Amino acid sequence: MEPVHTEIAVIGAGVVGLAIALRLAQAGHEVVILDPAAPGSGASYGNAGTVADYAVQPVGTPAVLRALPSLLFNRNSPLAIRHAALPTLAPWLLRFARQSLPGAAERNARVLAGLLADSGQRWSDLAAEIGGAEILQQKGCLYLYERSADRRAAESDIAFRRTLGVTVEMLKPDELAALEPALPPAEGGAAFFPQAIFMTDPGQMVALLAKAATDAGATQMMARADKLERTLDGIHLSGPGLRLHARRVVIAAGAHSRGLAAQAGDKVPLDTERGYHVEWDMPTPRLSRPVCHTARGFYLCPMHGRLRVVGTVELGGLTAPPSPHRIARLVEGARAIFPGLGSPSRDWMGFRPSMPDSLPVIGASAAGPDVIHAYGHGHLGLTLAPLTGAIVAALIAGKAPPVPTAPLSPGRF
Ligand SMILES: Cc1cc2nc3c(=O)[nH]c(=O)nc-3n(C[C@H](O)[C@H](O)[C@H](O)COP(=O)(O)OP(=O)(O)OC[C@H]3O[C@@H](n4cnc5c(N)ncnc54)[C@H](O)[C@@H]3O)c2cc1C
Repeated sequence: MEPVHTEIAVIGAGVVGLAIALRLAQAGHEVVILDPAAPGSGASYGNAGTVADYAVQPVGTPAVLRALPSLLFNRNSPLAIRHAALPTLAPWLLRFARQSLPGAAERNARVLAGLLADSGQRWSDLAAEIGGAEILQQKGCLYLYERSADRRAAESDIAFRRTLGVTVEMLKPDELAALEPALPPAEGGAAFFPQAIFMTDPGQMVALLAKAATDAGATQMMARADKLERTLDGIHLSGPGLRLHARRVVIAAGAHSRGLAAQAGDKVPLDTERGYHVEWDMPTPRLSRPVCHTARGFYLCPMHGRLRVVGTVELGGLTAPPSPHRIARLVEGARAIFPGLGSPSRDWMGFRPSMPDSLPVIGASAAGPDVIHAYGHGHLGLTLAPLTGAIVAALIAGKAPPVPTAPLSPGRF
């Protein structure tokens, strides 16, 4: 088989790879996007659709660290572990524990706040550019506190977010009821993030992004890159039915990026936090905006023609099948809020690409600028995709990126 030649190969057609490919093609580069699956069919498809500019707290915080043993070994907690995966996950968990200590957690939050600051504006601009403005809703987002104790426990977290520039309004139970009348009474009211925007159909938004990248001149190839080899004249990528030669490669394969990064010479402690959703088809979902049920650790999201109940974290690797227990917990939790819900229309599991410090990996390989890393966005890949596209385009153009990239370096661990 004769190899295909291109200037830049982007591995992975999730929201991150596509946002990068769009900006590179617009800058006049010859771009091939590789993915064995349909564009946007990984984590980018089934998420909660929030452009979560308020989510400045990393997953690992001192509070999470204190609760970690009980969280991890309680099958029903919002953060669970598959016991079979424990030996493989131990090094990641140790790093995660270190990143959850007060100094590290605060530093990670400050970096996240810098990355998130203009994410809403970036998505509004990108959605308008690709014809997806109607998929974006500017109605804010709620953290619901079922009990007064939940609200009190969240006070220091909310105060900290304010110091990082997040706008929050604390709502009393009757104010919450006025905003979302279908919800059952919540003794603790809610935190309202009025500036947050969300997508009523992330899958459709990513499909528009894929079309925009193609319209800008990028070529999409349905192929998996298993092998990455540096040669004197560039980089060879190969896999089933694939032989491709590129001058530069961007690794954007989400949770599947670690092996490719290692072949490029970079040892990156990427793992996955598996997440789930369950959907009920209904013409008008009962909510106007995403509502995070803080105690149960999931979001109730009004999507186009369906209610999506989405979230939870399961540490369990990339190969094990979905856990029916996690899906049952989501269904049970949703019915505790909306008792009339019948059988779900569908369920789904996806792989968040997760780093121990909750920061993405964006930057050049230690072995040379011919490989750029762009993955590891964890809970915030949808939110941060437009910024990631801008950063990678700047790195490839040899210009200053829009935010400092040292904390995102592939070699930081
Ligand atoms: C339950 C859940 C809820 C979430 N909610 C939100 C939210 O509300 N807001 C938010 O900002 N983020 C959210 N996220 C996170 C977000 O979905 C991810 O961070 C984001 O989708 C990651 O995008 P990606 O392009 O890096 O990865 P993916 O979308 O997973 O794409 C990676 C692509 O790479 C391809 N690939 C893999 N290996 C190879 C290979 N060897 N060769 C070629 N291609 C390959 C895959 O087929 C896939 O298409 C959520 C995630 C989950 C699971």
